[in-house]
Amino acid sequence: MLLRGEAGWGELSPFWDYDDVESLTWLRAAREAADVGWPEPVRDQVPVNVTVPAVGPQEARAIVLGSAGCRTAKVKVAQRLPDGTVESLAIEMDRVAAVRDALDDLYGELGGKIRIDANGAWSVDQALERIPQLDISAGGLEYVEQPCATVTELAEVRRRLTADVPIAADESVRRAADPLRVVREDAADVVVLKVQPLGGVRACLDLAEQVGLPVVVSSALESSVGLAAGVALAAALPELPYACGLATSQLLEHDVVADPLLPVDGTLPVRRVDPEEAALAAAAPSDDVRRRWLARHDRLAALLAGEAR
Ligand SMILES: [Mg+2]
Repeated sequence: MLLRGEAGWGELSPFWDYDDVESLTWLRAAREAADVGWPEPVRDQVPVNVTVPAVGPQEARAIVLGSAGCRTAKVKVAQRLPDGTVESLAIEMDRVAAVRDALDDLYGELGGKIRIDANGAWSVDQALERIPQLDISAGGLEYVEQPCATVTELAEVRRRLTADVPIAADESVRRAADPLRVVREDAADVVVLKVQPLGGVRACLDLAEQVGLPVVVSSALESSVGLAAGVALAAALPELPYACGLATSQLLEHDVVADPLLPVDGTLPVRRVDPEEAALAAAAPSDDVRRRWLARHDRLAALLAGEAR
């Protein structure tokens, strides 16, 4: 859902299974974009990674080769199988090695970087066994994102890991009642911040300052209107040592703008994005979906107004 205000357009796109309480930060982020806009950028472009889902090695290679100059690849691992177990280490190693080969072909030996994301699906034992092996397949991992589900498990993996691979926290920050717990428990070296679930660009800048760790900005699978908020955050952070996970427009069947935020030479430009009539018409939902989203917005707006009183 797109909202227009004095400052421009904002996007409200909480996942459909999120309840109203969890979705409230997403409305705050949309209202910030529409009503007040974002802080001044300190850079005019943002490096981004290509995302390689849990696919076979040939497809992984093709995705990296077609990634518009993205020198960092984020490779999904720990895919859940229908029986509830995770995919084998051998399959993960083949995928990571294929990505290494493709990056080396493009940018020379070890000219590109690889990070992996387990979405919290490994046990502590699996993480401790697999990360060192995948570190070798990758020719060195930049970091491993959310190897296990809980903060306690992340801290244990970080303490006991035999390979020198930093740990990044994603779900442990974005869906946590207390996002600073990862810091207090020494559970991460890097944090992943997403604008909508964390309540806006300013809220993320404040959190980054409190966390005091390097930050990677990622999308929550928005249209280019919502991605522009992530780009604004990445552009306003004092330090940006890692490529961001904001090159996700191409995962959507339709975007809502004429000129989507897609990477060129591995970077996104820092700019406002306005929706375009023809693209909006092409992406228009059914009347039923439209009614459900309007009702959802109105419930969230009432909650937000109640909090403000
Ligand atoms: Mg993640």
